[in-house]
Amino acid sequence: MNEEDRNYQIKQLKQDTKLLKSIGINGLYIQKAQRDKILNLLNDKKSQDSFKNLDEIRIAVERCERCPLHKERKNTVFSRGSAMSDVMFIGEGPGKDEDEAGLPFVGRAGQLLNKILEAMKLPIDNVYICNIVKCRPPQNRKPTFDEIDSCSHYLMGQISFVKPKVIICLGATAAEGILGTKERIKDLRGKFFDKYNAKIIVTYHPAALLRDPSRKKLVWEDMQLVMREIGQ
Ligand code: SF4
Repeated sequence: MNEEDRNYQIKQLKQDTKLLKSIGINGLYIQKAQRDKILNLLNDKKSQDSFKNLDEIRIAVERCERCPLHKERKNTVFSRGSAMSDVMFIGEGPGKDEDEAGLPFVGRAGQLLNKILEAMKLPIDNVYICNIVKCRPPQNRKPTFDEIDSCSHYLMGQISFVKPKVIICLGATAAEGILGTKERIKDLRGKFFDKYNAKIIVTYHPAALLRDPSRKKLVWEDMQLVMREIGQ
């Protein structure tokens, strides 16, 4: 669940509680599963608000066991690039090379992303790169909804400290985690969405370009929109 949805649900919860109190209801029986869900919601909000900087988030990620992905990871994969960047790239999750290096986008897809950055004349120090989940899903499978939800807590913290002007969602999982949509990339790309005080754009993941190089042209069109947006 992203920060906006979480805040909305907490607000609704407070309004419902107030309404019940106003008609004289001071207590309710809540089933355990539902109660745990409410407590998680409130605890997530509290702990998200309690991060003081990106280093605190990184340390929390290194110790994290919030979802089953922690079991098989060699390393957590937090970010690379600069936290002072206007441009943030968000991918899906670490692959084998990233899990070994503890850095995002260092494998073949990462090398292609480096070439895209070069073509955009954006040095690595001018961008911030991270993923939706910080631990490698087994056999590089897509992270589940619950895994994305558990890890969104850290991603929202990263966005709130980096404060990028433009967020580039690389692939459908990043789009789902950031925009909360399951629409296809071909229907999402080529335009900006407004969220998190940033312009969000969705494009194909570099791994998809390795499988189908004909999509490179579409990604380049999207990157030109980004370059125009940041005055590059
Ligand atoms: S993927 Fe995210 S939530 Fe899951 S264990 Fe790793 S850091 Fe924690």
